[in-house]
Amino acid sequence: MKKRTDALKVLVVEDSKVTLKVLCNFLERMGISDPLKAETGKDAIAQYRKEKPDIILLDAQLPDIDGFDIAKQIRASEQKDDWTAIIFLTSMTKDDDLARGIEVGGDDYLMKPVSEVVLHAKVRAMRRLVEMQRDLVDVSHQLNAANKELQRLSTTDGLTGISNRRMFDELSLREWRRCERMNKPMALVMIDIDSFKLYNDQFGHQAGDDCLRAVAGQVARAAPRASDLAARYGGEEFVLVLGETDADGARWVAENVRQHVADLGIPHATANRHVTISCGVASVQPGKGVALEVLLRAADHALYEAKEAGRDRVVVGTYGKS
Ligand code: GH3
Ligand code: MG
Ligand code: MG
Ligand code: MG
Repeated sequence: MKKRTDALKVLVVEDSKVTLKVLCNFLERMGISDPLKAETGKDAIAQYRKEKPDIILLDAQLPDIDGFDIAKQIRASEQKDDWTAIIFLTSMTKDDDLARGIEVGGDDYLMKPVSEVVLHAKVRAMRRLVEMQRDLVDVSHQLNAANKELQRLSTTDGLTGISNRRMFDELSLREWRRCERMNKPMALVMIDIDSFKLYNDQFGHQAGDDCLRAVAGQVARAAPRASDLAARYGGEEFVLVLGETDADGARWVAENVRQHVADLGIPHATANRHVTISCGVASVQPGKGVALEVLLRAADHALYEAKEAGRDRVVVGTYGKS
C-alpha cells in the first residue's frame, strides 16, 4: 500500500508569548517546520477549521475560551475520517483536570513547564497514531471501493455488461412491490435471439458473443427510466422490467427493441438474412393474489407463441394463460 508522506502539521495554542516561542523552537528542532500558532481560543478554532492540523498542543487556560471547550468544539466538528490529536498543556496538577481533558476529547497532556525531551517523545508517539489513522482511512477507502466493485460485479453480466439474472430476480420483485403499492401495472418483456444456435454454428462462438453484446446494447436502450431494468436472463435471452407500464406500452417498447435489433443488420443465414429477436410481453396489476411468477410465466408463454408464429415478432400474452 502507498504510504502517505504528508508533513505533520502542528498547531500550538498558547497565550503566553514566551511559552509559545519555546514550544515552537522545540518543535522546529525535531523537524516540524513553521508550526501554526494561536494565542486565543477564537484564533485556535479559526486555524483548526482552515488548516486541519494533525496535532494540536492546546493550552488548557486561555484568556477567552478555555482549552476544554475548544477540544469539545473540535471533536464535535470533526467529519467522519477526520482526527486531530489533541495534547493539553496544563499547569494544573489535579488529577480531575487531567481526567476532564481526556473526557472532552484530549488524547494526552503535557505538564508545564514543558521539557523538550518529553515534548519530542509525545509528539513522536502522536505522529505514529496520526500515521496509523491516515493508513486506516486509506485502507477503509480502498475497502469501500473494492466493495462497490464487488457489488457491481455480482450484479452485472460479464459478457454484455448489463444487469445479470441475480439483479433481475432482486429488482423485479422490488419493482413488483412498488407497483403494487402504487396500484399500477407492471410489465415484462422476454426477449430471445432467433436461431442463435445456427448463428454460432455459422460464425463461431466469438462472433456469437459479439452479437450478444450488440443485442444487449439495444435491449439496454429500451430501459431508460430509473425504475426500468434490462437484464440478461440467460444464454441468448434478455428481459425488460417495466414498472407502471400496461400491455400496450410494453408492446410499443418491445416493438422498438425488435426494430432496433433488426436495424443493426447483423448478417445471419436466416430467411430475412439478418439477426432478429422474438419478444413475449405481459403486463399485470400486482396484488390481489397474483404473484410475480404468474407475470413471468405469461411473458414466457407469449415468447413461445412468438417463436411458434414464425419468430421476428412481438406477442402480447394474457395473464392467466400459461
Ligand atoms: P430459437 O430461434 O428457437 O430461439 O433458436 P435458437 O437456436 O436461438 O435456440 P437454442 O436454445 O437452440 O440455442 C441457443 C443458443 O445460444 C445455443 C447456445 O450455444 C447459444 N448461447 C448461449 N449462451 C451463449 C453465449 O454466452 N455465447 C454464445 N456465443 N452463444 C451462446
Ligand atoms: Mg494560558
Ligand atoms: Mg433461448
Ligand atoms: Mg434463441
